[in-house]
Amino acid sequence: MTLTKIFNGKILTPHRIISNGCVIIENGIIREVSEKNIDVPEAKEVDAHGKYIAPGFIDLHIHGGGGADFMDGTEEAFLTIAETHAQYGTTAMVPTTLTSEKEDLLKTLDLYEIANKKNTKGAQFLGMHLEGPYFAMSQRGAQDPRYIRDPNPAEYQEVLAHSSSITRWSAAPELKGAIEFAKYLKSKGVLAALAHTDAIYEEVLEGFENGYTLATHLYSGMSGVTRKNAFRYAGVIESAFIIDAMDVEIIADGIHLPAPLLKLIMKIKGADRIALITDAMRAAGMPEGNSVLGPLKTGLKVIVEDGVAKLPDRSSFAGSVATADRLVRNMIHMADVSLLDAVKMISLTPARIMKVDNRKGSLVAGKDADIVIFDENINIEKTIVNGHVIYDALGI
Ligand SMILES: [Zn+2]
Repeated sequence: MTLTKIFNGKILTPHRIISNGCVIIENGIIREVSEKNIDVPEAKEVDAHGKYIAPGFIDLHIHGGGGADFMDGTEEAFLTIAETHAQYGTTAMVPTTLTSEKEDLLKTLDLYEIANKKNTKGAQFLGMHLEGPYFAMSQRGAQDPRYIRDPNPAEYQEVLAHSSSITRWSAAPELKGAIEFAKYLKSKGVLAALAHTDAIYEEVLEGFENGYTLATHLYSGMSGVTRKNAFRYAGVIESAFIIDAMDVEIIADGIHLPAPLLKLIMKIKGADRIALITDAMRAAGMPEGNSVLGPLKTGLKVIVEDGVAKLPDRSSFAGSVATADRLVRNMIHMADVSLLDAVKMISLTPARIMKVDNRKGSLVAGKDADIVIFDENINIEKTIVNGHVIYDALGI
């Protein structure tokens, strides 16, 4: 049995901050969150130096970091990304693919299995998220138009039969066959999410009722209010606001969404329905300069400057380079959100959305000891996964 005690910090539980308690970890599981710094003589002690002790960050939508992309075709890419983002407080993530050739997708799914077993020093993987190819052409954003199409049952059934590690799939609900697709995903326990879509309210509602319960990167790649023959129609954004039980994820890198929109989303959806995501590409955690969006060989050349990737002519953003610490900091500084709510949106809420909140997402006895220690400005001091320190700014 291994016992660890984390003490001398401010512990963030879902509902309050305990100022001088301790967290006891037994064999990688939280045994107790105590209001007092109790004596556990046999435990290894971790001094939090007066900083915050919070649940580890969970990133539902991420493509890369540390120079690597999940579609690079190597298991090293998976490990590099997991280890890079662990330095910024991420303890679990959902690796995300881009619209691609089917062979590349199947290869990536195979590599996931190998990398997942070898991943002992990075953020854990919570299954794969497939972003595409069933999208509206008009809302494709940076997704490659050559591969965009309507859902094809033979194709998606083959992909889902190929891998049992797919936990989420993003698609446009208004496409022909998209409702049948969502029903199939649901039957396989896969979360359907609305993305790159031009749907109007009636289509979103039908989609929601059939399984599309999460809006992928709200405001990016989706319709707002449109007019046809003088009549106005509510789009996906309005629908996500109207349907209370719809979850939304937001790229809170401080660039994709300005402060007033962050505040608006907070006001309408609240911390229980919002997940903060990085949607990071390979340049996250790297110096600014030239990079590539998507696969190294066939991807799009981009420039990273001002904390975001841009097309070479600077006409459009071409991906986020955010890390999880930055999302939390932004929500506090730009959207006037409390620390507890900001952390909830990248721990308990995403854990609930991925149905892993029985074991992750908060500092509660019985859950995995996935913990992050950071200062007032969300600078990460330690990242702990299953009770093991995988990142220590002070040196391991
Ligand atoms: Zn994405």
